[in-house]
Amino acid sequence: MEDDSQNQDQRTPFVIPDSSFAREELLAELDRLNRRLARRDFELIQMKEQREREVLELKKVKAQLEEAKGVLEIKVNAKTKELRDFTANLEQQIKERTRELSEKVDESENSRVALMNMLEDMEDLRGRAQEEKEKTLAIITNFVDGLMFFNASDVLEIINPQVEVYFSLDLDESRQILDKRVSEWGNIKELEPLVLLLGPDLKKIFRKEIALRENMVLEVSAMSVGSAPSKVGTLVIIHDITREKTVERMKTEFVSIAAHQLRTPISAIKWTLRMVLDGDFGPVTNEQKDFLEKTYQSNERMINLINDLLNVTRIEEGRYLYNITAVNLEDVVGKIAETYTEIVKHKHLTLKYQKPDKPLSQVKVDVEKISLVVSNLIENSIKYTPANGTIYVAISEDQGKIKVSVKDSGIGILKSQEERIFTKYFRGLNVVRMETEGTGLGLFISKNIVETHGGKIWFESEENNGTTFFFTLPIASLTPPMPSDDPQTAAVQKL
Ligand code: ADP
Repeated sequence: MEDDSQNQDQRTPFVIPDSSFAREELLAELDRLNRRLARRDFELIQMKEQREREVLELKKVKAQLEEAKGVLEIKVNAKTKELRDFTANLEQQIKERTRELSEKVDESENSRVALMNMLEDMEDLRGRAQEEKEKTLAIITNFVDGLMFFNASDVLEIINPQVEVYFSLDLDESRQILDKRVSEWGNIKELEPLVLLLGPDLKKIFRKEIALRENMVLEVSAMSVGSAPSKVGTLVIIHDITREKTVERMKTEFVSIAAHQLRTPISAIKWTLRMVLDGDFGPVTNEQKDFLEKTYQSNERMINLINDLLNVTRIEEGRYLYNITAVNLEDVVGKIAETYTEIVKHKHLTLKYQKPDKPLSQVKVDVEKISLVVSNLIENSIKYTPANGTIYVAISEDQGKIKVSVKDSGIGILKSQEERIFTKYFRGLNVVRMETEGTGLGLFISKNIVETHGGKIWFESEENNGTTFFFTLPIASLTPPMPSDDPQTAAVQKL
């Protein structure tokens, strides 16, 4: 509209008309102008109203904006506070972390120093271990006995030159068995006896002999190093006992010859004395009889000693032969116990024979030798039990075995000497003072006899409180072959 009026203004420029016509024209013009003005006013009013509306609108927007600004300011403030808190918190955390880290740095520095020290110590220890290893190897290499070390998997790790000397092994053969188990050694003829003795799984053995050649007897011991589960391996020690064996054989031969030589004159003395005592050479006075009786008893002890010595030499030479028959041991033991009635009474002791509750199975034994064992045990209990003591002899059957026991209330066996009880010539320290007579051969012979019958012998004892000796024998149906049945077994030498 405005543009329109402007256009009109341009189209009709204000011109001063002539007077008559002019007045009307002017009036008309005025009127036109008035109308244009009125229109203009109206437009202005409208425009003003429009402006006012717009101002109102703007004010509204401003108010809204201010409100939004307020909200925003609150939010900004809250966010700023949050951020400040967060920053403070973060700073705190960073400080703590820094402190922790510096502590850790200190710690790791300490650890580093400790580690360095440990490394130094380790190095030191390694050096010492190496030194020890070299020392041990030098000892093993130069050891007078043969040494073999098998690791925990039974693989041969170390072998010293002495083994090679004993078994005449050359370098190749020695290399052939190294780093191998016994079962993988192959067919080295010289090693056969050792392979047989050790077995594929390295039996734990204690002193077994190998007669390698005419003049070479070796003693082999295998022992575990460390105990399960931390077993380190097995050490096999091979010791040359040729000299000891020769000396022992010579000693045995000497004892055997001496005992044989003594047997004849001592038997002659025995029978002569008996005849004198029986009055075959004329009457003897009571005083003479007393002396002769004592001499006869001493001679009897000498005969027993010689018999023991002969038995030992026979055992050692594998000539102790057995005459096996099937018997019921109950009668045998009962009869032997009975023979001691007088002696027991004389020593103020009581001997009780405890019969079995039910009949016993038979055993296959050399009756004479088993009787020797029973007599030995009863005689020992009589010898080593002070007056007023009691001795119980019992026999029973249990789990396929016949068990004989001789129990006394005597002086007992010293704890420290228990292991030596069945060895040759051993006599306990406590008995030597009490009973001077004795050879220390009875239990050695007894053990050999019982074990050769496939049985076992052992004892339980308490110092000053008595001893019980036991032995078992397998019943007849279970008895293993005896040495007399198999001459090769008879020749087995026992240590
Ligand atoms: P000996 O009796 O001739 O000395 P043995 O071989 O029969 O020889 O016995 C060996 C040792 O065993 C005895 O010297 C003694 O120390 C001990 N011994 C055997 N039986 C008994 C026992 N019943 N009580 C105490 N010690 C015993």
